[in-house]
Amino acid sequence: MENAREILQQTFGYSDFRLNQAQIIEALLSGNDVLALMPTGGGKSLCYQVPAIALPGVAVVISPLIALMQDQVDALAQVGVKAAFLNSTLSSQQVRETNHQLLAGELDLIYIAPERLLTESCLNLLQRTNICLFAIDEAHCVSQWGHDFRPEYQQLFQLAELFPQVPRIALTATADHRTRGEILQQLSLNEAKQFINSFDRPNIRYLIQEGQNGREQLWRFIRNQFPQESGIVYCLSRKKVETTAEWLSKQGRVALPYHAGLSKEERAENQQRFLRESGVIIVATIAFGMGIDKPDVRFVAHLNLPKSIEAYYQETGRAGRDGGAATVWMSYGLQDVITLRQMTAQSEADETHKRVTQHKLEAMLGLCEMTTCRRQALLNYFGQRLDKPCGNCDNCLSPPETWDATIDAQKALSCVYRTGQRFGVGYVIEVLTGKSDQRIINNQHDQLSTYGIGEHLSVAEWRSLFRQLVAIDYLRVDHERYGALSLTESSRQLLKGELSLEARKLVKPEKVSSAKSNSEKVSEIDLPLFNALKALRRELADNQGVPPYVIFHDATLIEMTSKRPMQAIDMKFISGVGAKKLEKYGEEFLSVIKQHPKPEGAITGLSDTVNLTLIEFAAGRAPEKIAQTRGLTLSTIEGHLAQGIETGAIDVFDVTGLEESDYQLICQALDAEFEPESGRIKRVFEALGESFSYGVIRCVAAAHLCEV
Ligand code: ADP
Ligand code: ZN
Repeated sequence: MENAREILQQTFGYSDFRLNQAQIIEALLSGNDVLALMPTGGGKSLCYQVPAIALPGVAVVISPLIALMQDQVDALAQVGVKAAFLNSTLSSQQVRETNHQLLAGELDLIYIAPERLLTESCLNLLQRTNICLFAIDEAHCVSQWGHDFRPEYQQLFQLAELFPQVPRIALTATADHRTRGEILQQLSLNEAKQFINSFDRPNIRYLIQEGQNGREQLWRFIRNQFPQESGIVYCLSRKKVETTAEWLSKQGRVALPYHAGLSKEERAENQQRFLRESGVIIVATIAFGMGIDKPDVRFVAHLNLPKSIEAYYQETGRAGRDGGAATVWMSYGLQDVITLRQMTAQSEADETHKRVTQHKLEAMLGLCEMTTCRRQALLNYFGQRLDKPCGNCDNCLSPPETWDATIDAQKALSCVYRTGQRFGVGYVIEVLTGKSDQRIINNQHDQLSTYGIGEHLSVAEWRSLFRQLVAIDYLRVDHERYGALSLTESSRQLLKGELSLEARKLVKPEKVSSAKSNSEKVSEIDLPLFNALKALRRELADNQGVPPYVIFHDATLIEMTSKRPMQAIDMKFISGVGAKKLEKYGEEFLSVIKQHPKPEGAITGLSDTVNLTLIEFAAGRAPEKIAQTRGLTLSTIEGHLAQGIETGAIDVFDVTGLEESDYQLICQALDAEFEPESGRIKRVFEALGESFSYGVIRCVAAAHLCEV
């Protein structure tokens, strides 16, 4: 373990292990099999990379994510670790070279796609290789109930038979109780030590809203909260992907489509640009993203309802892998519910499978419609508890209002009934709100007792109520009959008044904002340095043809910005700077930092706005002038200066220009008349015959009261 710790610090530049990393590595080093469940971004890779380096022989990493292998190998090369991959993208020449390296024992890690691994020639090759470890990444792919099912994964039990002496670790970020059981059983990991970490991703803010106009809402969300950051937008259909990407591009963002209908080249290119450039938005069907390892995805948006909570968790999990704040946002409408139910009903799957799928969709809907903490519900779904509401989801931040919708729901149901259970939502709402539509008149539905009894609610409010009624199965939508609504067993109870209904009020979408973005985390004063460091990183990355985060993560740059290390030895203590990277990049980053010294006069611990005043003051500008240029009142500026005086950063005489005798006079008045409880200086002002301004008195108070 000593050795492992040394590798963590020297090679990876991290000071401590996270979560269960230490225990997992220890178990592997002592020859155990392991099942590790860690949230996305939790640091699963390190669990096998550290032992791979520590142990003699090569670690074989089995991963379905071919697109990622190159980046992983690049990232390892950056920290001086020898790794390679074997997949279908290599030429036969490259394969031969890699095989050679493998047999010669030159590699610490080899990444292999499962279908390749299971070929006879590959298994043969491995049997002649000195292997220290098998890591089976994305192990939930063995589950045929999951959305990432890979049949080849079910063959991986062979490893246990062919290499009984080699420890194996299965890793995943999504596995409910049943899937976990499947992993253990299918991969013959019966003796494995299990390390189950919390599923919680505290840095992710969950926002879910209903909406008819998803695209507008999406744009408002992106424009207001992530004007420059990169993110993923998920849509259900290829067509919606195309139109949404086009539309976002028109709004001035770089937004690239990704779906199975594009050519392989186009997909690869869009993915590359998303990884390499900053601020790119990828608009995708769920075909995109399995294992997208980009750490600085700041938002994930769903324009449609995901199929299950697992899918939602997995897809949203791609945000904020670097641990920085991220926001996930979803807008869904009645049509989503209808489409997904329809897809399930029409699928070729057998009845059990359909039932499971249906059940999962209902659980997802439940998450959307609930009015209490979403994170608690999410974790609860995975069998974990969060004792207190999280404070970082929309329901916590802005508790939704509910209303007793029993009567309105009865009106809705009875209108469905009286119009003969033959019409869709739009029509029924028109009848309820008393529209004088020709169709309604022809059908004589303007004669019904339910005609116009719903005028007190807007169409949007009715839609919201209908969606909730469908979601909780008080109404059913018949796909065969163009979305006609019909009653269910439970609707009769509601109609008879045996049940009541609390409904969620339609909320204004803007109410809850996102967490802070990275550039917001850097103070205004430090922004030039942060941007300069990013520019350097970009240049280095471009030169090597790797994504910027392979050089350093944002978090590392932010730490450099705030700590401003001046020499190599200080740089070493920045998280993410290991020996190799220090050697390669230390000088260049240090020199940028040196070009951006902390501005004179700025003090840590004071707010940015105060610091800006102090800096201007140190540069010789008069308070009146500062007030003018910054568009603030003089008394605000004097307040800032008083704070500067209080911390000892500036001198009270410089600020006020007072004579010593006047200063003493004010001090005496303060001693006599200052009201410490309220902090008020009105009486001091009066006692001094109103001959000194409030601002001056406040500055003297700042100096004098600290002395006392
Ligand atoms: P996962 O595969 O679990 O989603 P990764 O292995 O990609 O997560 O790790 C997420 C990020 O956290 C990576 O950038 C990794 O370098 C970083 N990381 C992992 N372990 C540590 C640690 N002990 N200290 C600091 N950062 C870490
Ligand atoms: Zn919450």
